[in-house]
Amino acid sequence: MSEWTDIIDEVIDHVTLLKELGERTVEIDPAVMRSLSTVPRAPIPAQPAAAPPSAPRAAAAPAFTFEKPPAEVPPIATAPSLSPEARRQALADIAARADACSACPLREKRTKNVPGQGNPDSPDVMFIGEAPGYDEDQQGIAFIGAAGQLLTKMIAAMGYTRDEVFIANICKCRPPGNRTPFPEEMQKCLPFLREQIAVIKPKVIVLLGGTAIKGLLDTQAGVTRLQGQWTSYEGIPVMPTFHPSYLLRFPPAKRDAWHALKRVLAHLGRPVPETSK
Ligand code: URA
Repeated sequence: MSEWTDIIDEVIDHVTLLKELGERTVEIDPAVMRSLSTVPRAPIPAQPAAAPPSAPRAAAAPAFTFEKPPAEVPPIATAPSLSPEARRQALADIAARADACSACPLREKRTKNVPGQGNPDSPDVMFIGEAPGYDEDQQGIAFIGAAGQLLTKMIAAMGYTRDEVFIANICKCRPPGNRTPFPEEMQKCLPFLREQIAVIKPKVIVLLGGTAIKGLLDTQAGVTRLQGQWTSYEGIPVMPTFHPSYLLRFPPAKRDAWHALKRVLAHLGRPVPETSK
């Protein structure tokens, strides 16, 4: 994560907010534009080889366009599918190792390890968030607090139950005070998530928020830049969108998040439930 890309993400968030508030023009000092044009651009993840068909964007064209440098696509996962029993055993083994892990300081203050839960048998969707919060830390279950309740509604709006999808996080232990996990904490915890994905083999991954995006895709690009755009991880189509906590703080962004989820349904060949139209 560089200071520059964080600043650019904040500028994009600010301009997006102005747009939501009805502003159609912004004044930018030419000196600022000149200095921005010298910023090295971060690699962004590639579109999947078999990119799902893209639906037209509901929102107006973005205020900025970015050059996309040549992207590096990670190798496609070739691990064979496991039997249902072997898959459950493999996930239990990963959870046990994550529980015993003391590779980063998050272990010291956490109450319970939160490995994630749901349908492990190649579910249509695997949702990945940032890290457990207070409620998750108390109960050992991912996304059960306020953000989790909104995620449950998002899942229901797509026509699924929580048990039909898999829900996990980049970090399995709660950062004190719900702060964003540090990059080195994410790096230590990521192997567990990568293993989970290899075992679960979801058809689509939905990344919730900037931390999940930066963690799994190893990119500097932020959520505002990538949300709603298909990318891929180990050959699995990935749809990044806003974190439910952000949507609770900034409800107008729900429209874009819903658009992203509808793109996921379209790729999976699932209808948008009547009750969600
Ligand atoms: N926020 C997350 O990113 N994950 C959770 O499990 C809960 C809140």
